[in-house]
Amino acid sequence: MDVRPMTLGSARVAALRTHLRGPLLLPDDARYDVARRVWSAAIDRHPAAIVLCADAEDVSWALRLAAEAGLAATVRGGGHNTAGRSIRDGALLIDLSSLRGITVDGLAGRAFVQGGALWRDVDAATAKLGLATTGGLVSSTGVGGFTLGGGSGWLMRRAGLACDNLASADVTLPDGRTVRASPHEHDDLYWCLRGGGGAPGVVTRFEFALEPRVSVTGAFVVHPLADAELVMRSFRDAAPEAPDDFCAVLVLTCAPPFPFLDPAWHGRPVLISAMCWAGDPAGAAAAFAWSRERDPLGLHEGVLPYVDWQLALDPGAPAGRHHYWKTTNFRNLGDSTIGRLVDAAATLPTPFTEIHLQHLGGAVARVPAEETAFLHRDVPFFVNLIGCSLDRDADGAVSRWVRTLHGALAPEAAAGMLPNFVGVDDAEAATGDARGRRLESIHRRYDPAGLLSRG
Ligand SMILES: Cc1cc2nc3c(=O)[nH]c(=O)nc-3n(C[C@H](O)[C@H](O)[C@H](O)COP(=O)(O)OP(=O)(O)OC[C@H]3O[C@@H](n4cnc5c(N)ncnc54)[C@H](O)[C@@H]3O)c2cc1C
Repeated sequence: MDVRPMTLGSARVAALRTHLRGPLLLPDDARYDVARRVWSAAIDRHPAAIVLCADAEDVSWALRLAAEAGLAATVRGGGHNTAGRSIRDGALLIDLSSLRGITVDGLAGRAFVQGGALWRDVDAATAKLGLATTGGLVSSTGVGGFTLGGGSGWLMRRAGLACDNLASADVTLPDGRTVRASPHEHDDLYWCLRGGGGAPGVVTRFEFALEPRVSVTGAFVVHPLADAELVMRSFRDAAPEAPDDFCAVLVLTCAPPFPFLDPAWHGRPVLISAMCWAGDPAGAAAAFAWSRERDPLGLHEGVLPYVDWQLALDPGAPAGRHHYWKTTNFRNLGDSTIGRLVDAAATLPTPFTEIHLQHLGGAVARVPAEETAFLHRDVPFFVNLIGCSLDRDADGAVSRWVRTLHGALAPEAAAGMLPNFVGVDDAEAATGDARGRRLESIHRRYDPAGLLSRG
C-alpha cells in the first residue's frame, strides 16, 4: 500500500476523537478500504485518515485538525467526480456521506440540503410537495460537487443550472468558522460557489430555489449508426430555436437491453436520443420532431413523474466501474465533427463506453456572465467522452481511445471545459484571466493556507 507517512500524530488523533461524533478511520481500520472508495473504481487513493462526519460540528473539528497538523484536506460529497477530486493520497478526507438531510419549505419554495446529499435525496423530498430544481441526470450524483461545478440537468434550460438556483450556502472555513454565503453575506464567496468548480471551505448546507414540477414527458428514441449523422444534424439545427422546456442528451453507445428494442440490436452501436419535455404534454411531439426524421429502431415515450424520469439513466451508471472521461465545448458543431463522433462510435473500446452530445442555451445562457463563476454560458453544445470498463484499463485501450478522439475533435472545439466533466489528467482551468484571478483571490482569502484542494 502506497501511503504517505501519517503526519497527524497519535496525540492529535486522540484529541480529535474526543470531539468527533463520527468515526475517524486510519489506514489500519477495517472500514478504511471501503470508505476510501469513490464512484469510479479507477480512482485508487489512500488518504492519511478519513473523518466520517456525523454532523456539521465534525466538519469544523476535522478542518481545525488539518489546519493544526498542516495537512491538506479534501471533501467528499457524492464521490462521483471521475477525476477523483474528493480524495488525495496522504490528505485528510472529510467525508460528508452521512450528511444527507433535506428540509423543504413548500410555501417559500426552498429546499435546505445537507452537504453530502445525493440528487435522489433532493428529488424524493421535493417531489412530495410537487416541487423540483435542476438536478443531475443520474440520481446518485452528489449535490455538492455538482452544484459547485455549475450543474447541468433536464430542467436547466427553463430553470437554470443548479448553481443558478443556489440561494445561499453555509460554508465551514478552514479556520473552523461557519459563514453564510448569499447575495447579502459574503457575496464574493457566493459568486465563487456558483460554478467556480470548487470551494475554499466545506458547504454543510445548500439552499435551493424550487419550481412547481410534478411530471415531464420523457422519451428514448434509438437509431442505427447508419442514421446517426442525419439525426444528430437535425438536433444540431433544431437546438438553437428549441423552447426552454426541451432538453436532450444524444448518446452514442452499444444498445442496452431496452425492452422496447428488438433484442437483435442489443449490444450493437446505436444512437440513443434521450429527451425531456417539461411543458404541456401536447407540445412534446413538436419538440421531439427532429428525432423522427428517420424511422427509429425503437421508441419509448410517455408522461411520467419527474422524480421517476430522474432515475431513467441510473441503470447505465452503476458505481464500481473504471472511468476515464474527457469533455469538449463547441460553438459550432460542424458536420465533420458529427461524422467523427459517429465514426468513433463504430470503434467503441468497450460496450459501456459512451459519447454524449448535449446542449446548454435557454435559461443557462440568459444569466449574465459576470453574475456567477460559471464560465460557459455562451457555449451551445458540449461533448462528453465517457470511457468505461469493468476492469482496470490495464493496457490503456479505453483511455487511449478517449484521448485519440478528444485530440481529433480539438481543431473544431471551443476553449474551456465544463468543470463537472474535467478529466483526471486535464489541467486546471486557466487562471490568468479576470475571472480566474477573482477565483484565486477568493480562495486565498477564505483558505489562506491552501488547506483544501481546489477541485
Ligand atoms: C454518472 C454521473 C452522471 C453525472 N451527471 C452529471 C450531470 O447530469 N450534470 C452535471 O453537471 N454533472 C454530472 N456529473 C458530473 C458531476 O456533477 C461531478 O463529477 C461532480 O463533481 C460530482 O459531485 P459529487 O459531490 O458527487 O462528487 P465528489 O467527488 O464527492 O466531489 C467533487 C468535488 O466537489 C467537492 N465537494 C463535494 N461536496 C462538497 C461540499 N459539500 N462542500 C465543498 N466541496 C464539496 C469535492 O471536494 C470535490 O472537489 C455526473 C457524474 C457522474 C459520475
